[in-house]
Amino acid sequence: MSRRRFVALIVAWFVAAATARAFDLGLPTANDALLRPGADAEFFQPVIEGTTESGMFGCVRSHGYRFHKGIDIKCLQRDRHGEPIDPVRAAADGEVAFVNAKPGLSNYGRYIVIQHVWDGVQVCTLYAHLREVAAGISAGQPVKKGQVIATLGHSANTREGISRERAHLHFEIDLLLSPNFCIWYPKHVPDAPPFGNFNGQNLAGMDPAAVLRAHATNPNLNFAEYVSKQPIAFTALVGARPFPWLKLHPEQVQPAHGPTLAYEIGLTAWGLPVAVWPRVAGEISESQHRSLQRSLPVLVRANDAELSQWTCGELVKRSRSGDGWVLTEHGKEWLEMITFVP
Ligand SMILES: [Zn+2]
Repeated sequence: MSRRRFVALIVAWFVAAATARAFDLGLPTANDALLRPGADAEFFQPVIEGTTESGMFGCVRSHGYRFHKGIDIKCLQRDRHGEPIDPVRAAADGEVAFVNAKPGLSNYGRYIVIQHVWDGVQVCTLYAHLREVAAGISAGQPVKKGQVIATLGHSANTREGISRERAHLHFEIDLLLSPNFCIWYPKHVPDAPPFGNFNGQNLAGMDPAAVLRAHATNPNLNFAEYVSKQPIAFTALVGARPFPWLKLHPEQVQPAHGPTLAYEIGLTAWGLPVAVWPRVAGEISESQHRSLQRSLPVLVRANDAELSQWTCGELVKRSRSGDGWVLTEHGKEWLEMITFVP
């Protein structure tokens, strides 16, 4: 090979590397109104008599008091009986992690979870209320971005169900909270459904609409960086045990400045861990130390502005005196679940 040709090749490789998408992400159905300015009403499926916002992520349900952990995407195509026929596609390359084919077992109805690695972050996408799972889609199967995995539907196990008119795709982008969930959960809920770790309660995410829009605007979006910018609403101290999150998300673990006595976890208002700080002697008070010895997590910092605007928070609440915040029982349980080591 000539020297000139070699240099040209190296330059071409550098250009390719610089323009390569950090991770490739697409919309999970043909409904692309999300990416058109002012077209939210064509994209989000509201609840009955609800506003467009009720189909979005966040405190959008029950007058702001109930959390919706995904987005509801409107159906575009129907057969002559009015049943939805929109193909549902894998939002990115990955591997099918779980398929629930029995809609009666979950309020997600029929649902699929796909695992991906984006910029080193292990992440899941979840597709719920499906009418049908595509042939050949089962746990362990690799899938390509855009591959049809299911048909959009209105399956659910709730008494009132989802009407045919409101058929939609419920879509989430999540991190798996603990691979030990399948051991921890049945201790608390004896008649737990057979979903293993892919129970919705073990998946905490971020606003999928915001991720999809951010990626469409900036194809070089770095996902690890994106997660690190999710707003921390509170931090909590837990004992220094080797809980799985530390290994699953090394990108979140900050450098230790000595032997670790405890971990301080920074979480969003809805419970997604965003950063973990190993704490050493001198960084933990006497009373915090006593709580940790009794295996009780300790609320360390609370972001008043962030928590005040999050009207559906269940993990922390205002203290009785009203001048601060405390972990709720659910909040303590949440931290116990994330840090559980069998
Ligand atoms: Zn939904």
